[in-house]
Amino acid sequence: MVKWYPWLNSPYRQILTSYQQKRGHHALLLHSQSGNGEASLCYALSRWLICRQPDGIKSCGNCHSCQLMKINNHPDVYQLQPEQGRKSLGIDSVRSIIDSLYARASQGGAKVIHLSQSELLTEQAANALLKTLEEPPDNTYFILICQTPASLLPTLRSRCLYWPLPAPEEELSFRWLRKAGYQHPPLSTRTALRLCGGAPLAAEALLKPVRWQDRLTFCRRLQEAHETGNFLELLPILNREQDNGPLHWMLSLISDALKYQHGAKEFLLNADRSQLVALIAARWATSILHVQWQQWLYYIYQCQEISGINRELLLTKYLLNWEQAVKDVRISL
Ligand SMILES: [Zn+2]
Repeated sequence: MVKWYPWLNSPYRQILTSYQQKRGHHALLLHSQSGNGEASLCYALSRWLICRQPDGIKSCGNCHSCQLMKINNHPDVYQLQPEQGRKSLGIDSVRSIIDSLYARASQGGAKVIHLSQSELLTEQAANALLKTLEEPPDNTYFILICQTPASLLPTLRSRCLYWPLPAPEEELSFRWLRKAGYQHPPLSTRTALRLCGGAPLAAEALLKPVRWQDRLTFCRRLQEAHETGNFLELLPILNREQDNGPLHWMLSLISDALKYQHGAKEFLLNADRSQLVALIAARWATSILHVQWQQWLYYIYQCQEISGINRELLLTKYLLNWEQAVKDVRISL
C-alpha cells in the first residue's frame, strides 16, 4: 500500500488540474531530493491517468485498472530501472519498454512509464528515450524523477515539463513527524529535518532508533577525538562501503562550526549538538575548517568516481591530515 502525505496534496491537485484541462504534459520531470514522498506522488498521478472512470482529480478505486494498480500489477505501467546487478540504466532496458509501448495497451487505456532515478540513464539510453519523448505513442505518459536535473541530457530535460517538488515547510514536517509517533525532543526532530534538507521521509528514517543512535555515537566519537587528539579513532565509523551517513554528519558539523565562528548560530543544522559545534569552532581556525570541508567533499567525490579505491587508506590519510591540521591539501578535480 502506497502511503500518502499531506504536503503532496497541492502538487497533486495542480498537476492533475492541468491534465483535466487537457493541458497536461506527456512527460513530467519531478525534481525532488530523496525523501519528499516523490514515489507516492508518481504513483497517485499514475493511478489517475490509468483509471477508466476518474472522479474529478480522484481515481475511482473500483474499475479494473484501479484494482490492478492496487495490487501493483498493472500491465500498462512500466518501471524503467537498471537490470539486476547494474548501476546504470542502459539502452537495452529502454528499448525493451519502448517496443512494448507501440503495441496496444493491454487494458485499452493509458500507458505510464516510471523512471525513478533518471540520473542512471546512460547517454545512449537517454538518446533512445529522447526519440520516444519527441514522438510519443498515443495516450502514453512518462513520469521521470530526478534529484539533480543538471546531470540529465539538456535535450531530454527540454522535452519534459519540469516540476520541482521542494521539501515542505519545517513546521509542517515537524508536526507530521510528531503525529507519526516520533516523540524525540523537539530539537532532535528539527535537527533530523535540517540534516535531511527538510525531506520528511528522510528525516523519519534518520530518527529511527538505531540510525539516530548511530549519529549520536558518531558525534560522541568526534568529540572524544577533539579531546584526545586521536582522530584515527573515527576510522571504523567512517569506513563504510554503502553508507555515507557519518561523512555527511561530519561535513554538517564542520559547516556548522564555520557558521558558529561567523556568529550565525541560529542557522546550525546540528541544533541539538551546539556544544560539540562550539568545541570544533574553538579548536580550529576558519582556514583549517575550510580545508577540512574541501578535503572531505573531495573524499566523497573520489569514492564515487574511482572504482576499486582503497577507502581505508584514504580515510587514514585524511584523518591524519586533520589530526595534524595540515593546511596544504591539494584539491585537483
Ligand atoms: Zn478507476
